[in-house]
Amino acid sequence: MLIKPSDAAAWISCPRRAWLDKHQPTAYEPDAFNQLLSDRGLAHEAAMLAKLENQFPVAQATSFEHTQALIQQGVPVIYQGRLVDEHQGLVGYPDFLIRQENGQYQSADAKLSLSENKKAIQIQLGIYRRLMGNGLPAMVFLGDGRTALLGDEVELLVDEFITSMRALLELEQQPPVRYSHSKCRICPYEAHCRPEFEAREDISLLYGVHGKAADALTEAGISTISKLAASTIDTVPDVPYLKGSKRKYRAILQAQSFLSGKVFPLDKVALPEGTWIHFDIEDNPLTRTRERHVYLWGFLLPAYAKDNFDYVWTDDETSDYEGWLGFLQKVEAYRSLYPSIVLAHYSNHEKATIRKYAERYAMESHATVTWLLGQDSPLFDIQNPVLNCLVLPLQGYGLKDICKHPDLVNFQWENQESGSQWSVVQFNRFLSETNPRERQKLKTEILGYNRDDVVATRHLELWLRNFFD
Ligand code: SF4
Repeated sequence: MLIKPSDAAAWISCPRRAWLDKHQPTAYEPDAFNQLLSDRGLAHEAAMLAKLENQFPVAQATSFEHTQALIQQGVPVIYQGRLVDEHQGLVGYPDFLIRQENGQYQSADAKLSLSENKKAIQIQLGIYRRLMGNGLPAMVFLGDGRTALLGDEVELLVDEFITSMRALLELEQQPPVRYSHSKCRICPYEAHCRPEFEAREDISLLYGVHGKAADALTEAGISTISKLAASTIDTVPDVPYLKGSKRKYRAILQAQSFLSGKVFPLDKVALPEGTWIHFDIEDNPLTRTRERHVYLWGFLLPAYAKDNFDYVWTDDETSDYEGWLGFLQKVEAYRSLYPSIVLAHYSNHEKATIRKYAERYAMESHATVTWLLGQDSPLFDIQNPVLNCLVLPLQGYGLKDICKHPDLVNFQWENQESGSQWSVVQFNRFLSETNPRERQKLKTEILGYNRDDVVATRHLELWLRNFFD
């Protein structure tokens, strides 16, 4: 078993994932969003290839031996070179090997990323350097058109990766790890790992309990969710990521909630007075400039039925500014219609996006923007009272986690598959679709999803008012 540059992504995410990839690999289909990213990556690589072909003769390598033969021949650019060093236990396929004036070859890769400072990129390019063994820095053709160089500064990280991967290759049993909601729920090995976490009532399954806190609590004798649920703030020691009585109390209640399915109110839920308008945006990160383009600014107005859905839509990023102005005009129109409005949204994303747009178009002093972002802002993040006032039987406190749960809000989206990444995929299909009917169909689906998002926050508001206000 050889170490590949592409092992870096799994290694950074979770050592067990890197071990399973090597010892018990599972075949899995990438989801539509990851497939979209992969397709974009291939298109970027093809564009770089075309650019190089315009300047130099390019030969495509077909094997390790063929790569060496092309190097011996001094071919200016070798595409998809194959490099192996069995002594170091490394294998890698850089997108390009580019011959320098002195005859040495420099490895280069096309990456959609805008930054060369990502660990996975640094390890990958660092491995290519090791395989070339000539000390030349590796090149990255980044998604924004920049070319970056990675040299000796990545060596320490590459050493750490190789040493750790060698140890994982020799390990006969999978390494012990803790649960991480953000990583495990999107991991292809979730079905393999989860039963084990549940069987041993791993404390890291609890929302807000970090793996390092779980390790320290285990050392202190609190090794299961049941034991934590039976503890008091005085018997739980201060441990990393779990210090102070407030956090400990919350963790104990989270353990009790996990076991019983009960909701524990921590405080009274205070919701602002006024006319509520529910607000949610959909944005596309895969733009030419990589500045997120909000293609849909969606609202649910009184009387909160499905046909009270209102929105600003733009067909592509060339209309980004018009969409932003349309949004500002809408909120001003609502403001004059209702004496005091509350623009309710879930999480900080909407407010942060308004701030970014104001910066993008140098409109920080615009009257509507200063109102939206100022002291008397109508924006209200409904996630705050949820996080501050309630302990819920959930592992994540996202809108869908709370709303879809049958014992909580119990609101179901019409399209079960929809989600924010789903919306990005649909919008990119919309962009590339030429058939007007198909385009309209895709747009209608995206609008339906966004409408359900704002209807969901309305249901969440009612649930909070009914049970906790
Ligand atoms: S499910 Fe979680 S613990 Fe298991 S391999 Fe994946 S990320 Fe690691």
